[in-house]
Amino acid sequence: MTNRKPVVAANWKMNGNRQLVDNAVQSIAKQSELKNNLDVVISPPATLFSYLDSAKKTYNSDVILAAQNISEFEQGAITGELSVHHVKEMGCQWVICGHSERRSLFGERSSVTAQKVLQAKKQGLKPIICVGETAEEYEAGKTYSRLTAQIEAIFNLGGEQAFTDSIVAYEPVWAVGTGKAASPELAQEIHHFIRGMIRAMSPVTAASVRILYGGSVTPDNAAALFSQPDIDGGLIGAASLVPEKFIKICQAAM
Ligand code: PEP
Repeated sequence: MTNRKPVVAANWKMNGNRQLVDNAVQSIAKQSELKNNLDVVISPPATLFSYLDSAKKTYNSDVILAAQNISEFEQGAITGELSVHHVKEMGCQWVICGHSERRSLFGERSSVTAQKVLQAKKQGLKPIICVGETAEEYEAGKTYSRLTAQIEAIFNLGGEQAFTDSIVAYEPVWAVGTGKAASPELAQEIHHFIRGMIRAMSPVTAASVRILYGGSVTPDNAAALFSQPDIDGGLIGAASLVPEKFIKICQAAM
């Protein structure tokens, strides 16, 4: 039993529209038991930020709005990018940093993820720091060395403060969008390792930092994953696009 408040975060990726915003925010608001007991986060495409922000007011919802990415730079001649200031102005309180799709599809290196985490912290946004090994790394027994490199890149740039009041999401790349979730036992072992790395920086931060599991979480496997002592909730892709499924996953985290 821990006193860490669970988190369930929806990553809509490049999906969703105004209708989904309405359905999701309204159906979550109807589940009064979710209020206060966990942090429910929605990370839609940036074009939906303001619509979601007003849906929160309409339905009296305390869903937390998160961006899926920010630039590692503060401002400037960088066509097509959004800075931390832009997403903050649109009502985002949290931001996903270093998602595996940013790393694999856009070549984002761990040093760049670290810059994004720092941008977020400087402006008071809570980063969801994504880490995870690929299938090849997993099969080659390189899970722990990969995670160590990803976490150290952030520590080297931002020190332990980069993790204070931040969220870490362990997302094995082989489980993201594949339908093959990690077993609760394996996920717990790796979450325990990640918390141990953070403990070496700061025991206080290690005790309070929330570490989410992500990768093919569904209403069927959520409870077993979330009941593990070092798993404080989940980062949810596909299942978050169906409000009924997402709510069941939220309920499994309480
Ligand atoms: C994700 O994209 O962060 C994710 C976990 O996706 P899925 O739940 O679809 O595996």
